[in-house]
Amino acid sequence: MHNKVLIIGSGPAGLTAALYAARANLEPLVVRGLQPGGLIATTSEVENYPGFVDGVGGYELAENMEKQAARFGAQSMDTLITGIDASQRPFVLSTDSGETLTADTIIVSTGASPRKLGVPGEDRLANRGVSYCATCDGFFFKKKRVVVVGGGNSALDEGLFLTRYVDELIIVHRRDELRADPILQERAFSNEKMRFIWDSTVDEVLGDEKVSGVKLRNLKTGETSELAVEGVFPYIGHLPNSKVFAGLLTLDENGYIVADARQRTNIEGIFAAGDVVDHVYRQAITAAGEGCKAAMEATWYLSEQEHATKKAQSETEEVSSPALGQW
Ligand code: NAP
Repeated sequence: MHNKVLIIGSGPAGLTAALYAARANLEPLVVRGLQPGGLIATTSEVENYPGFVDGVGGYELAENMEKQAARFGAQSMDTLITGIDASQRPFVLSTDSGETLTADTIIVSTGASPRKLGVPGEDRLANRGVSYCATCDGFFFKKKRVVVVGGGNSALDEGLFLTRYVDELIIVHRRDELRADPILQERAFSNEKMRFIWDSTVDEVLGDEKVSGVKLRNLKTGETSELAVEGVFPYIGHLPNSKVFAGLLTLDENGYIVADARQRTNIEGIFAAGDVVDHVYRQAITAAGEGCKAAMEATWYLSEQEHATKKAQSETEEVSSPALGQW
């Protein structure tokens, strides 16, 4: 299957790129990957995406973005890209379904995934009390006691969402000061179901068949303790989904794709946008903005290529059929 524009990833960056490329009549293909809609689709409530006076559900926002792009001809496909051959044009992409795709330009918008705690019990008890998605799993923790790890916006935002269901929510944070925005801090401190354990980390997730507690360590005193909980929600940041591009695209020391202000990577014709590039702002709106830029750049790149090909063709024709005066 050949596409002029192939977009890898379907979060706000990828879907905005799809909208712009589709409106430029380029019929883009969005390869949706493991998390259709991206991380925003797993967010309960988005209050800072402009245009939604009362906020909007993350899933609804992602779904609307996809429908809007589809209205102008964007197609989507559920598969994973496993490799890109950039030694030839068009680019050749392999997928986990065994299919081969080709593309004239590629926009990488694979986003980031939740960072894991990396402690014993976390993987073993995943989906058995350990969850990285409050929106998806909150309902299963009705009237329970859970722990949220982290002190950023995600920890507080998703923690506040969980208080709709749980009886008690404990935020475990490694410092005695939160990183989250003041408005979220105010809401959290005034929420009767929330309490905080400061200067502490989760050293182990406990439980046989399902989570029964966590082992905590106070980083100031070194003291360890156990806390009985039925759920653990780590919200300690994200890691860029860039592994598949290592060796092809330039990555920084933390694995983020290096792109310039015009979303261009080190390979001509491959652009990158959103959380896989941006370790500073990481907002849905900034990702969408970068997706827009990447699609416009891809459009211009394709026009230049087309122009160059036509010019080369007409020069060849001139050489093979010289004007009469030259005989
Ligand atoms: P973040 O801002 O990077 O916060 C991560 C938190 O986890 C920090 O409090 C950090 O502690 C802690 N942490 C990191 N590694 C840890 C470890 N190994 N063990 C224990 N704790 C650890 O990440 P985020 O909250 O996921 O937010 C990501 C981006 O999305 C941010 O730009 C944020 O503003 C944005 N966001 C915005 C909203 C909103 O506007 N409503 C909602 C969600 C996310 P330290 O504080 O000590 O570093």
